[in-house]
Amino acid sequence: MTTHRAVATGRSSPRALAASLLTAAAGVNIMLIEIMFVQYGAGKNLILTMSKFFALHAGLFTIFQLLLVARLPWLDRRLGMDRLTSWHRWLGFLLVWTVALHATLAVLGYAELAGSTPSQTFISLAGVPASLLGICAGTLFAVVAVLSVRPLRRRLRYEVWHLVHLTLYAALLLGIAHQLLETTTLRATTWYFAYWYSMLIIVVLALLVGRVIMPIWRNAYHRFRVAAVVPEGPGVVSIYIRGHRLDRLPAQAGQFMVWRFPDHNPWWQGNPFSLSAAPNGRSLRLTVKAVGDVSRRLQHVPLGTRVFAEGPYGAFTGRQKTASGTVLIAGGVGVTPIRALLEELTGPVTVLYRARSTSDAVLLPELRSLAQDRGAVLHLLTGRSGTDAPNHPPFSPDGLLVLVPDIIERDVFVCGPPAMTEAVVRSLHDLGLPRRQVHAERFGFA
Ligand SMILES: Cc1cc2nc3c(=O)[nH]c(=O)nc-3n(C[C@H](O)[C@H](O)[C@H](O)COP(=O)(O)OP(=O)(O)OC[C@H]3O[C@@H](n4cnc5c(N)ncnc54)[C@H](O)[C@@H]3O)c2cc1C
Repeated sequence: MTTHRAVATGRSSPRALAASLLTAAAGVNIMLIEIMFVQYGAGKNLILTMSKFFALHAGLFTIFQLLLVARLPWLDRRLGMDRLTSWHRWLGFLLVWTVALHATLAVLGYAELAGSTPSQTFISLAGVPASLLGICAGTLFAVVAVLSVRPLRRRLRYEVWHLVHLTLYAALLLGIAHQLLETTTLRATTWYFAYWYSMLIIVVLALLVGRVIMPIWRNAYHRFRVAAVVPEGPGVVSIYIRGHRLDRLPAQAGQFMVWRFPDHNPWWQGNPFSLSAAPNGRSLRLTVKAVGDVSRRLQHVPLGTRVFAEGPYGAFTGRQKTASGTVLIAGGVGVTPIRALLEELTGPVTVLYRARSTSDAVLLPELRSLAQDRGAVLHLLTGRSGTDAPNHPPFSPDGLLVLVPDIIERDVFVCGPPAMTEAVVRSLHDLGLPRRQVHAERFGFA
């Protein structure tokens, strides 16, 4: 493989800025609780002191967990929901281990104090309301963590897993009650108490606004309805949505929304679909490939059906651009946000569109005419190795260079099946593209 030097671009990445701010906020808060622990963390014996150490960290991780899924537009537009949910997943596992250590050490610590066995101590702790609340919260955390382990999660329907996941809000309330009833380090001074509970109140409010109030308000205001359903190919339709003052919806090409069609599908089935055309203030469009129950039924959604849409979400937008030129890479139905981005992005653009055959290439006529209108280059890559680059697999580093010789000076946006997306990201890395120039949308969350 040829090696290449990436050309540094001047613009900084909004993603890097948001990630740095989040890391700094985490760092400052961790430092604060370490100080709190050193000052006031001593328990009745060494084991209980260690238990308190893990309790403090579990509390802080919980606050961060809520922040990551609060759907704060500022964070979501810079980091993307896929990255935020992936961090949420890993922090979730860390939280469960921290809670488990806190609980185990608490039992062992009290057992040592009372000179009894751990099982006797556990039973007597379960008789104390403050500890019982903590035991219940910890058990719920553990159940959800076990169900979130990949082999188990894959066996559950998305909605079932999501419903189970929602029980964590009950665990959160139980955990807070446990914290308030116990004599914790957090109560050592009024300042610490105020710091901790104001942080908790802020994230809970952010969560309520981001996940409940904002979606309800937006839907009451825009009153979305299905305006047209247009077949795009076998098992693929575009659904046009109209509503009141769509020019006020802060949506950008490349973003997605979580769509519910409560008159047509059960209300609890909300599925993410990207906007397949740049928002124009008059209508929104999603293009849906039939892969399961919901997407199959959407092929026949009646005109006038009420729509409840959450979002717009996602960081797969022109906001992330750091270079003037762009490469858009689509695979299969991953073409939807790519099609919208082609409409909106300025500067030199090359589109690489991978499909099994020309007849499988959804939205191809639109892509061709858009590419022609704005002077973009479009390569349709069909067949096993891609017709345009017969000597190299199209998404190998050399294959990409054959198709776009100046790729290392451009931003690259890729959306397609997971294996293709990972292959492209790996090749771009091998070519030496800085991470800030690589933007991937995955049609699935952690
Ligand atoms: C950010 C994003 C953008 C997407 N954009 C498009 C698009 O423009 N066009 C398109 O055809 N498809 C898109 N998808 C994929 C689409 O969401 C799924 O194909 C669809 O939800 C499948 O639902 P189903 O009930 O028909 O199939 P199922 O068989 O029930 O689901 C198939 C798989 O889809 C995923 N899925 C189902 N429901 C959800 C959910 N509520 N949230 C997250 N994942 C879920 C699960 O991984 C599941 O295993 C996108 C996905 C994501 C995450």
